[in-house]
Amino acid sequence: MGIEEKLPSGFLLTSVEAAAGWVRKASLFPATFGLACCAIEMMTTGAGRYDLARFGMEVFRGSPRQADLMIVAGRVSQKMAPVLRQVYDQMPNPKWVISMGVCASSGGMFNNYAIVQGVDHIVPVDIYLPGCPPRPEMLLDAIIKLHEKIQHEKLGVHKRRAEEEAERLALQA
Ligand code: SF4
Repeated sequence: MGIEEKLPSGFLLTSVEAAAGWVRKASLFPATFGLACCAIEMMTTGAGRYDLARFGMEVFRGSPRQADLMIVAGRVSQKMAPVLRQVYDQMPNPKWVISMGVCASSGGMFNNYAIVQGVDHIVPVDIYLPGCPPRPEMLLDAIIKLHEKIQHEKLGVHKRRAEEEAERLALQA
């Protein structure tokens, strides 16, 4: 039984949700995962000039098991899609995904058989970030918007999302 089922609804649950949201948004650890030119801007965002550390998330984790944010930075090739999904599956819940750039979000200029036409075919996406490439300020803006989303998330939403996702994958198999 999850904590959201144990707690009475009302003030207490609302307070716990607010505290959990604050803690989660203030300690996001991105997975080290760059795919193409957008990844250069993502790396720049982590450098001193843009100072991602201000948001408690300067550490890009080498292991997906230590990460809770996937920034899909660049176009996703069909060959890379299963790898991306495996990295996502190895990240513990709760976890979030930012689709960075027009290629990751829709295939962009690569409207061909080799490129996945939107990473949301592979993993659920929380924030779509337009641009080619989006500048570091835009990625920071997307991260701040993700913080707002995390702050207002209900407890248990990720568990339900994982269950729905498992059902969807089982139906496809
Ligand atoms: Fe490269 Fe532009 Fe595509 Fe980003 S959106 S991967 S910069 S072509």
